[in-house]
Amino acid sequence: MLRIGGILKDAFKALFKKPVTVQYLTKPGEMVPVPERYRGKVIYDREKCIGCLLCIRTCPSGVISVTEEGKVSFNLDRCVFCGQCGETCPRKAIKFSSEFEIIVHRRGSLIVK
Ligand code: SF4
Ligand code: SF4
Repeated sequence: MLRIGGILKDAFKALFKKPVTVQYLTKPGEMVPVPERYRGKVIYDREKCIGCLLCIRTCPSGVISVTEEGKVSFNLDRCVFCGQCGETCPRKAIKFSSEFEIIVHRRGSLIVK
């Protein structure tokens, strides 16, 4: 009986709370605001990269591979956006954009070099 009382109390309180869900694209061209530290599509700065390969060692998903030029590439179709690569990179060559719409027709389009 006490449990039902608690549930009813929570349900009543919820009636007066603002919705948590953010409305998606309410107007044409309008983008949903994302938090400052949101981790979206990877931005890789080849110029800063020194080819130390620490990012490859730290990535839990096997997203990053070494290229013939001794740089790296990211196959984002396996990325879990954990941010480990960016944390590990000694040159700050890996950052995350606020881009969250990364639906593509071809998997190859998700490779970042
Ligand atoms: S964000 Fe995580 S999963 Fe994605 S490439 Fe970096 S380390 Fe790998
Ligand atoms: S950790 Fe940074 S500098 Fe090292 S290979 Fe990866 S991107 Fe390049």
